[in-house]
Amino acid sequence: MDPRLEPIFDKVLERNAGEAEFHQAVREVFDSLSVVVGKRPEYLDNGVIERLCEPERQIIFRVPWVDDQGEVQVNRGFRVEFSSVLGPYKGGLRFHPSVYLGIVKFLGFEQIFKNALTGLPIGGGKGGSDFDPKGRSDGEVMRFCQSFMSELHRHLGEYTDVPAGDIGVGGREIGYLFGQYKRITNRYESGVLTGKGLGWGGSQVRTEATGYGTVHFANEMLSTRGEDLEGKRVVVSGSGNVAIYAIQKAQQLGAHVVACSDSSGYVVDEHGIDLAHLQDVKEVRRGRIGDYASERGSDCHHVTGGSIWDVPCDVALPCATQNELDEKAALTLINNGCRIVAEGANMPATPEAIKAFGTSAVLFAPGKAANAGGVATSALEMQQNASRDSWSFEHTEERLAAIMTGIHDRCAETAEEYGAPGDYVLGANVSSFLQVADAMTAFGVI
Ligand code: GLU
Repeated sequence: MDPRLEPIFDKVLERNAGEAEFHQAVREVFDSLSVVVGKRPEYLDNGVIERLCEPERQIIFRVPWVDDQGEVQVNRGFRVEFSSVLGPYKGGLRFHPSVYLGIVKFLGFEQIFKNALTGLPIGGGKGGSDFDPKGRSDGEVMRFCQSFMSELHRHLGEYTDVPAGDIGVGGREIGYLFGQYKRITNRYESGVLTGKGLGWGGSQVRTEATGYGTVHFANEMLSTRGEDLEGKRVVVSGSGNVAIYAIQKAQQLGAHVVACSDSSGYVVDEHGIDLAHLQDVKEVRRGRIGDYASERGSDCHHVTGGSIWDVPCDVALPCATQNELDEKAALTLINNGCRIVAEGANMPATPEAIKAFGTSAVLFAPGKAANAGGVATSALEMQQNASRDSWSFEHTEERLAAIMTGIHDRCAETAEEYGAPGDYVLGANVSSFLQVADAMTAFGVI
């Protein structure tokens, strides 16, 4: 890190004590910014970098609700409105027991840069709760969502803050949240949430967008080497929304997807993952990946615990969660001949893993570039809501593909310009930082 950035980073550590994931996300960006402050020291003059690390607003609230046994449960809700310099705060809600302020801040910080990369007018924010939807009935999830929105609604608005889904928040939760927002405000304000159902203001391709976009990005990376996904052996971690649609798009492009995972372990299916079966287990029955393996029979095996990155592949798509791919896993992937790693999740590779990829022949793309298809399609949903229109699947997918190609090229060109060809981390961080910082400078000290 450039020594002029060190005191700013130390202050971030001090002001956000104990928030390890947030520190990690800031550090990664600062490491890339060394080349910027070397060339353009004026970015150190007007407090832009300090201001960028401090959320514009942070909301923490109580979420009381009654479970099916009639017991009162209390969770904690969060919304970190990080930056509205390019548009209304935009970013998902995560419902998972690991959620605390440090996770929401890391996600919100990443979202600023990711959203800038899309080229669409959206700022950065993130929210969520330590509520665990696993094993909860629909009624419990509904009552939780209603209580969550009873507080959050006063901070939202189509020009103010527009949440969507993330881990633990899908179509069901967005439905309950939108219903409660509409009821409390007496406004049918479609553009206040994205990821809505297709019959009530949702966009085609939004469900598929993050996974599809990640695969599109990986294909663009391959194309810089004169290759494509056809016939490639692919491993996708996770089995939630991002993983499922990454598998689908990779298969459509002729790849052979052999493994996926959940928190209990991973499955290897040498015949290729049977997506319809996986969707039935995960999306319809809300079951576990072990069920998929036992129902598939002898050619498919389930490994309890262990690391999915032990499975040899050409292309690895980490689509589960933060810090799921460490240095050891990276070295295993490299030794097994993996050539492309594109992050479908947010920050799944640890800093040590990214370093290992950087000193190998692997091309690595960070989530803020490779998984931006989800939020980009959310912005397309907002466009459709604002114009009271709805687009076809084909048209929306074309827009998504063009946006992903644009992000890929923007990152690759910036990396080249700053003397680090093929460094998508540097390209993504520098290119988005410059856009955000220039807008902040134009607005004065606010
Ligand atoms: N949670 C997704 C992300 O990490 C999507 C956010 C959105 O659509 O607003 O980018």
